Amino acid sequence: MTVTTRFAPSPTGRLHVGNIRTALHNWMWAKKHGGRFLLRIDDTDAERSAEANVTAIRDDLAWLGLGWDGEARQSERFALYEERFAVLKAAGRVYPAYETAQELDLKRKVLLGRGLPPVYDRGALKLSDAERTAFDAEGRQPHWRFRLDHDTLIVWQDLIRGEQRFDPKLLSDPVIRRADGSWLYMLPSAIDDVEMGITHVVRGEDHVSNTAAQLQMFAALGAEAPQFAHEALLTGSEGKLSKRLGSLGVDHFREVGIEPVTLIAKLARIGTSDPVEAVTDPQPLIDSFDFAHFGRAPARFDEAELAQLNARIVHQLDYAVVADRLPAGMDEAAWVAVRPNLETVVQAADWWAVVEGPIAASDIGDEDRTYLVEAARAAAQIDWSADPWHALTGALKETTGRKGKPLFLPLRRALTGRDHGPDMAALLPLIGRDRALARLAAAA
Ligand code: GLU
Repeated sequence: MTVTTRFAPSPTGRLHVGNIRTALHNWMWAKKHGGRFLLRIDDTDAERSAEANVTAIRDDLAWLGLGWDGEARQSERFALYEERFAVLKAAGRVYPAYETAQELDLKRKVLLGRGLPPVYDRGALKLSDAERTAFDAEGRQPHWRFRLDHDTLIVWQDLIRGEQRFDPKLLSDPVIRRADGSWLYMLPSAIDDVEMGITHVVRGEDHVSNTAAQLQMFAALGAEAPQFAHEALLTGSEGKLSKRLGSLGVDHFREVGIEPVTLIAKLARIGTSDPVEAVTDPQPLIDSFDFAHFGRAPARFDEAELAQLNARIVHQLDYAVVADRLPAGMDEAAWVAVRPNLETVVQAADWWAVVEGPIAASDIGDEDRTYLVEAARAAAQIDWSADPWHALTGALKETTGRKGKPLFLPLRRALTGRDHGPDMAALLPLIGRDRALARLAAAA
């Protein structure tokens, strides 16, 4: 059995951080087991689905590095659903229902008013042939429900939530098809999970009661059900399900300089008993990925923490990973020199501008001017081929008697125009002799 997972977004919008997390966990589980990760576009709802969203979903997954091994689109599989529907209908597992939305709403309100769970009363199953014919004659189009088997308790071992039990009598027979013939999510999804050989379904816990009904659909289709892992939902930093999370997608993260691997490192681990770690490669996360480590409490997604994690990851990124995003001419030595001072890769350009100049005039106090004249003289004499910063500061220490901040800070200011920044020992060789001499002379 090849472990096969799927990510099944409805293309009604862009992916948000919650969807990205679901996609990631499905991908990781497949990778961990040398299995397959499939992309399924759940676009049965033609009106709400948009092609631009499908393209964006693919782009977002590609940016994240979550490659998929196959793709399916529900809108191309209607013939299959029709076929399975006919089988279920012949077996009496789907049935037409004629209630209008208002009638259903009224039934619900009556039950709730009596303090009862608002479970559909199966009124449609009690219709006589004559009543049904009369509805048809009236031109009422039925919608279709899946008839749950009330005699079998629904039980499954959820990989995250443990044993789950549902009494089917307390569930409404789910509507699977609208009066206009269009499909709701539940049945096509179960049919596809069977046809695509899905072994594990990883999704949010908002789907738990769907799973109860879908387990009966798998049985009615004569198929073995996949295993399920329902994860606790994400909350914002304030601990509540936040609107903002629903609008945070790849575009936003890219714009603020978050690396794909940062998102992966964060989303792989929040809500689990494993610590979030600053990794530059998802492999160790895949190796240790385990549903048993997931908690039942909502996972807290904090953007400030994400930014800090990003900085720690950027500090370790190899030149090859970032080279195509660096300014022209910025080589490996320059990257390694500035990397520890960055929060995002884009900021490397600021330091490259400092290396190349021109730099902003720095405010040098009068007490430092003669010191810088001396520095310019020393800089002209030192050996620039090995370690010019230590050669320069060593020489100046001797000739001026300065040490510590008075020794270093005026040099940093004169050479970079700033008070803080990357290690001068790494920066000075990049600035080079000619520019350094000119900057020291200009500042003096
Ligand atoms: N299209 C469904 C959704 O986006 C898929 C749920 C599932 O993974 O089965 O909620």
